[in-house]
Amino acid sequence: MEPDATNSISTDDPADGLSRSTIMGPLNFAKDTSAMEPPTSLVNERTVPCMFCSNIYDFHSRDNGVDQYLAHLYLVHRLIVGDVKEIACLASYCYYWKDKFHTEPVEKYCSAMLLNQLPDGTCSNNEKYFLLSDIEPLDYELRQRLKKEKLELVLARHQFERTDRNYRRDCLYCRDFRSETRPDFISHLYAKHFLQLGKSEHLVFVDELIETVQEKLNRLICLFCEKIFKDRPTLKEHMRKKGHKRINPDNHYYDRFFLVNYRLKQKPEYVPIAQRKEESRVFNSDDDSDSDWSDWNGEEQTTTCLFCTHSEAKIDKLKQHMVETHSFDFAETVNGMSFYQRVKVVNFIRRQMHIRKCIACGEQFADLHSLCEHLVAESHHRLDKELSGWDQPEYFFPTYEDDQFLCHLEEISNEDVTPSEEDGSIVISEDVNARINIDAESLSLEGFNI
Ligand SMILES: [Zn+2]
Ligand SMILES: [Zn+2]
Ligand SMILES: [Zn+2]
Ligand SMILES: [Zn+2]
Ligand SMILES: [Zn+2]
Repeated sequence: MEPDATNSISTDDPADGLSRSTIMGPLNFAKDTSAMEPPTSLVNERTVPCMFCSNIYDFHSRDNGVDQYLAHLYLVHRLIVGDVKEIACLASYCYYWKDKFHTEPVEKYCSAMLLNQLPDGTCSNNEKYFLLSDIEPLDYELRQRLKKEKLELVLARHQFERTDRNYRRDCLYCRDFRSETRPDFISHLYAKHFLQLGKSEHLVFVDELIETVQEKLNRLICLFCEKIFKDRPTLKEHMRKKGHKRINPDNHYYDRFFLVNYRLKQKPEYVPIAQRKEESRVFNSDDDSDSDWSDWNGEEQTTTCLFCTHSEAKIDKLKQHMVETHSFDFAETVNGMSFYQRVKVVNFIRRQMHIRKCIACGEQFADLHSLCEHLVAESHHRLDKELSGWDQPEYFFPTYEDDQFLCHLEEISNEDVTPSEEDGSIVISEDVNARINIDAESLSLEGFNI
């Protein structure tokens, strides 16, 4: 297989001439601000290497280099990065792990799991996949550090962009304006041309934002609805008439330009690994010798509710409990879903509850109590089938070790599910034509939306 041949830049390209061009023109003191200009990223994000091979990706590319990168990790190296959207600087994250994996095996830091399918969905027995997530303490620390470093960078950059007086740039529309500062430029666009990019005090990385806007307009793309027009006058007319003189709020590419998106969110209290192990014991039985007892007694293991600590030996009683207590109808929720999708639904709900995030709207809470109040108050004991937050490969991996709920999914589907332990991996045997990303390398990977 020739992975991502069209989307990556070969490393075999000779280094360009940059390092050799040591001769410069005379320096200009007034204009030479580069020495004190704060950087716009923590690391080089334009040529990020794969953690395992020599493929290289541009994280700022228009054809979404990040998605290409994540798809490549999954399809070629069988690696899934958990909660990837929460990583403040994915490029730094990738450099860090590339360095680690250079000398140490993936197994050391990742959870492994066997699925009976290849990444393209073809059936095949016991295929191994890896999950890299903040369950691993090094990963957790890395994510925390990147969040802080990124916030510091953003604040320094924002401060600079508000005050720097060397932003000389011609207006995107008229000929008689030339800015001195970024706020000037933004307010001119608004005051003279009614183009709303946002208030400059809320914006950061303004240079890249303006470049992006300019490029879209040059390519005759409407900023708001992103349709393409045949010529400049038609585009201008459309944007004016339809009130489309602003950027598309649904395009998450623009998130990076708004300060508010870098705010350190209210985080749930850190649950150390040892305690997580404790929590996961909720799903085992109270007593270590239980497995012997259950063999001896023929007793069934209990299954814990997806939303509270209530448990039942009979899955039907538990489902009834969820309907009565939480107005959550599991059968209806997973109706029409494939086996693997059901697995993902269960693991997703467990994960959200564990990290104190609403399963319907994704809002973050500081503790379980306020999350539960919210679920009741907003009737959010439900999954939004359209918002596919749950339908990500990372949710193949059980949130809790030995989650009995996963053993009962066959009762709806009449398929064979036999979770069992085998050198630390959960084996789910199934002969199903479950589709994950069957479009293989060509895909733009819905599941990897950033
Ligand atoms: Zn690779
Ligand atoms: Zn102008
Ligand atoms: Zn439009
Ligand atoms: Zn419950
Ligand atoms: Zn909610």
